[in-house]
Amino acid sequence: MKRREFMKAAPLGAVAAAAIPLAAPALAETAPKVSWRLTSSFPKSLDTIYGAAEVMAKAVSEATDGNFQIQVFAAGELVPGLQAADAVTAGTVEMCHTAPYYYVGKDPTFAFGTAVPFGLNSRQLSAWFRHGGGMDLLNAFFAKYNIVGFPGGNTGTQMGGWFRKEIKTVADMSGLKMRIGGLAGRVIAKLGAVPQQIAGGDIYPSLEKGTIDAAEWVGPYDDEKLGFYKVAPHYYYPGWWEGGAALQFFVNKAKWEELPKTYKAVLTQATALADVDMQAKYDARNPAALKRLVQNGALLHPFPAEVMEASLKAANELYAEIGKDNEAFRKMHEAVWAFRDDEYLWWQIAEFTYDAFMIRARRG
Ligand code: CA
Repeated sequence: MKRREFMKAAPLGAVAAAAIPLAAPALAETAPKVSWRLTSSFPKSLDTIYGAAEVMAKAVSEATDGNFQIQVFAAGELVPGLQAADAVTAGTVEMCHTAPYYYVGKDPTFAFGTAVPFGLNSRQLSAWFRHGGGMDLLNAFFAKYNIVGFPGGNTGTQMGGWFRKEIKTVADMSGLKMRIGGLAGRVIAKLGAVPQQIAGGDIYPSLEKGTIDAAEWVGPYDDEKLGFYKVAPHYYYPGWWEGGAALQFFVNKAKWEELPKTYKAVLTQATALADVDMQAKYDARNPAALKRLVQNGALLHPFPAEVMEASLKAANELYAEIGKDNEAFRKMHEAVWAFRDDEYLWWQIAEFTYDAFMIRARRG
């Protein structure tokens, strides 16, 4: 071995022992070849969300000279999108990128890892996860499923979806068949609406045929690709059930614990990079998509105040019902609501005033 190559590869203090094979294992332990598989809950067509897993995997590879490889698979390539967490729990894959609220059927507490109706916005959720005790609470809960979670991106406040007819009063929600999932579906059911679970690719034909009256998806950038404006032009906001919808990277607990310390640090940092990067992509891409949607006939409406108020009341009733016999949910709900109250105490002062002024100034 040439001296320069040796100096590059050897740990400090190993020079004298270079000829002794015993020096090798120490090196192997710090930078072993590790090859993982990640199953995404999302198709490649959702490039912002799916792309977050690729951003993370690339950062891990680059920081380890390619020794730690995470191969990313789209939904359905290894396991169906809505079973990604189950594959991590079972250890079939080491990792997944998913929206925890897909698993509210197992336990509604999962929703706090993504978004709950009238919960936190993207910035506030990130604050709760990282500095408000949120990930500690969530990881204590995820541990029951052999999962360690890391925040993995956010869409920002979502849109309220596409409606074939205008919604003017709470009574207009009665009998409305809407594609909307999870806890939000249970909230609108209290207003008399009929929530439907429909996979992304089947929403457009259902709206076109009138099998459903409305559908929510994400926001301008993703909604544009599915073409809803052609068949349900009334585009409502805000999506009060996803004030800031977070994704998470789930890692199998045993696989996480097997990683060398440096790889744990690299993986943690890479997920944080993907977390920031995804929100930045949405914020950069949504404005142009919104302009194109409006040019193509989308009609923007805020939800009427009475619909917002009735939905808030229904959501609070739902939380009280779930919390009655689900302690983890009740504790998480109390924690998020206390955090939210303090966040908005602060938000109303500087952030809101600045944004409100700038929005008026731009219009002027
Ligand atoms: Ca949504």
